[in-house]
Amino acid sequence: MKGKEFLDSLDHEAEAFDSAVTREHYLNRSGQKDDLALEPIFRRHQRLFSRETVEALSGPHLRDPRLRPLRELAIFGYLEEAARPFTEELAHRETVDTASWNGQEVPYRSLWTVVMNEGDAGRRHELDRLRVELSAAQNGIRESRWDALYARTRELGYRSYYRLCDRVGDLGLESLLAQMEPFLWDTDRLYHDRLETHLRSIGVAPAQAERSDLSYLFRASQFDAAFGSERLVASLEATLRGLGIEPERLRSVRLDVEPRPRKSPRAFCAPVRIPDEIWLVISPHGGQDDYRALFHEAGHAYHFAHVKRGAPFAHRGLGDNSVTEGFAFVLEHLVYNSAWLQEHLGMDDPSEYLAFARFHKLYMLRRYAAKLQYECELHQGSDVRGRAKRYSDLLTAAVGVRYAPQDYLFDVDDGFYCGRYLRAWTFEAQVRRYLESEFGETWFRSTRAGRCLKALWALGQRYPAPRLIRRLGYQGLDARLLMEELL
Ligand SMILES: [Zn+2]
Repeated sequence: MKGKEFLDSLDHEAEAFDSAVTREHYLNRSGQKDDLALEPIFRRHQRLFSRETVEALSGPHLRDPRLRPLRELAIFGYLEEAARPFTEELAHRETVDTASWNGQEVPYRSLWTVVMNEGDAGRRHELDRLRVELSAAQNGIRESRWDALYARTRELGYRSYYRLCDRVGDLGLESLLAQMEPFLWDTDRLYHDRLETHLRSIGVAPAQAERSDLSYLFRASQFDAAFGSERLVASLEATLRGLGIEPERLRSVRLDVEPRPRKSPRAFCAPVRIPDEIWLVISPHGGQDDYRALFHEAGHAYHFAHVKRGAPFAHRGLGDNSVTEGFAFVLEHLVYNSAWLQEHLGMDDPSEYLAFARFHKLYMLRRYAAKLQYECELHQGSDVRGRAKRYSDLLTAAVGVRYAPQDYLFDVDDGFYCGRYLRAWTFEAQVRRYLESEFGETWFRSTRAGRCLKALWALGQRYPAPRLIRRLGYQGLDARLLMEELL
């Protein structure tokens, strides 16, 4: 088959595969299906990830822009194929494992929600210990899964998983690390000072603080009254209308708010068919966190729902996820916009909430900077075992609360997704600065701003974030704006 025809047929098959996998994940994570049956889907589309396809896409090639995203899919699929039994086992365990608490069996996936709502520090630590124990008991599966991924990495001729992700995913890990290291230094004092104040406000002595205390702190129930659940979906719809988007006419975005016991507590967006069937799934547990999660996932959903129909799948559904994460943060950030808070939630003086939100952002960036550092070290090695202490040391130092060493694999996403987030925060700060300078602080009320966003959304992930940002007049991704607002 000639180059172009070969890529055409791969592109079609990639779409069928991705759609089936995303639907399966949607059903499992939304609690409608206990198992995650990926095996038949991978078998049906085996050709996408065969060694022959990987090689055909890796040779010297025609300059087709679909090549890079399709190669990335093929290589990560080739790796995942070897890891799949462990991925499925893990998903099953995470769905069915339970812990006994107060005479009740709490599902593993609900534990985090219970932890963040537990006001008593002693009980919270005890509960989190139950979560960590369950997670630790699953670690053998995680270790075997990484063994399988690493073995295939070497088989493809890459020295390490770090090297593979950096090359294939075009992440620029070295320069990202070089930007984040001074960030950790520069914000250290400020962060730890604020952390201490916040911890004392919830009655926790800084020396005794654990990760679960931050999930309680960031649950921030003191703001619940301002972030009522009855306005949650309505405020999103009103915001979209302000941007010239009619949510009721855009039938492709479907909201799943139904409570189910095995539904993942983390909100997520499942773009099953781009741009025609996009699921927006949330598990409301109340308060500002729900608003942030809904607006973030809505950012993904409306991004995918506006992608130009008819573009190759490689540009609609593959490519640099920093782009869709960046747009997710653009909407999420409205919840930190003083004018938005006044207009949509009727908050008279949002200053206390805004200070809290800035601290949260700083925490996120420091946590992800430390994760990046840890994952770079982890994935330069050839065995994930024995890294638990290093994980705990790095995260505890950057975040200032104790991280359980047992989470050393639970807290790692495939393919350096932490790097995509860090790039996305940078991208978002630049997009937002552009929107503010063109349309003012109340850009969310401007249909012209909406048109500008829709024009960018239409491109899907055709361009990686560093190139897409050039359309707004920047030279490339630049973390300075982000640092400025935090310092
Ligand atoms: Zn996201």
